[in-house]
Amino acid sequence: MKRKRTTERYTLADLDSWREATREVKPPIRLGVFGDPVAHSLSPQMQNAALRACKIDMQYARFHVRANELRSALHVLTELDFIGVNLTVPHKITALVSMDEVDERAARAGAVNTVRVRDKKLIASNTDGEGFLRAIRSEFSVDLRDLRVVVIGAGGGSGRAIAMQCALENCERLVLVNRTFEKAKALADQLRPFFAGPRVLGPAARLEAVPWDEPLLRAQFAQVDLVVNATPLGMNPSDSTPIPARLLAPHLMVFDTVYGAQPTPLVRAAREAGARAANGLSMLLHQGALAFETWFGREAPLDVMRAAL
Ligand code: NAP
Repeated sequence: MKRKRTTERYTLADLDSWREATREVKPPIRLGVFGDPVAHSLSPQMQNAALRACKIDMQYARFHVRANELRSALHVLTELDFIGVNLTVPHKITALVSMDEVDERAARAGAVNTVRVRDKKLIASNTDGEGFLRAIRSEFSVDLRDLRVVVIGAGGGSGRAIAMQCALENCERLVLVNRTFEKAKALADQLRPFFAGPRVLGPAARLEAVPWDEPLLRAQFAQVDLVVNATPLGMNPSDSTPIPARLLAPHLMVFDTVYGAQPTPLVRAAREAGARAANGLSMLLHQGALAFETWFGREAPLDVMRAAL
């Protein structure tokens, strides 16, 4: 049979008749990413390059799965010969209830970005936090533990994983900001034990949840080193920057988890303000390499994956 590589986007309807829908696809699709939207995802090109380099005869595809379809789509996987999937916006938190087992990283973050299928069971993991840690090191040549960090969008799946990683690293300060303030406050309560010890000289609390309010953010930005955008703002070309440019200053490092071919609005605004800035490509790379290792129990070909991006 002719070998056919796929760049298509599949749906729940395709999963429901998977063998028929992919009869002509070779090598078979046994990995993928579920999201809504999902067209922007660069995971397929990165993971497919890794699969080819490791001579693993399978493909990774995009699946457009809406919030109300997630449970069914995950369930279908257990009936097919999938290795696993990644989950992206908006599924990382809601997916937890569909899992049969949840590993320590996913349980701590309260979110799942990597699912393994084993013996018809779904096993949740999370590589976003560790991927973020590695990305910050490679983009800014600094360690998270030395930084005062503000996470915008801390109530979302990625924001939670990033905030938990900051707590595990015992960073100097952590400020949590979220459109729905209650989620940032609840997360701060959960993370409080990590910040019990004193560390920074000065009056600022080591851990704070702060409402999304410009004067409050301005005051916080004077007391942080790293600003992280974990909201999806910037994914659409028409999006404005999640943080007004007038709040950005040269002393800041700005990390936008959003990525794309062009600099995101936030990265552009940060650079114009004289700050160092990076988009989410390096996080994509590292979380993807860790996901590959979760699925296959072998080292991911990082250089091949980087080149594919
Ligand atoms: P999610 O679970 O749906 O969370 C979205 C977060 O953004 C929530 O905190 C939400 O606040 C906030 N938000 C959504 N729309 C907003 C708006 N218009 N204004 C202000 N806040 C808004 O999504 P996710 O899975 O965490 O993904 C978030 C982003 O991170 C996506 O763009 C994704 O591409 C990116 N990401 C990148 C990587 C990477 O490897 N580079 C990895 C993971 C995620 P509420 O709580 O108020 O709803």
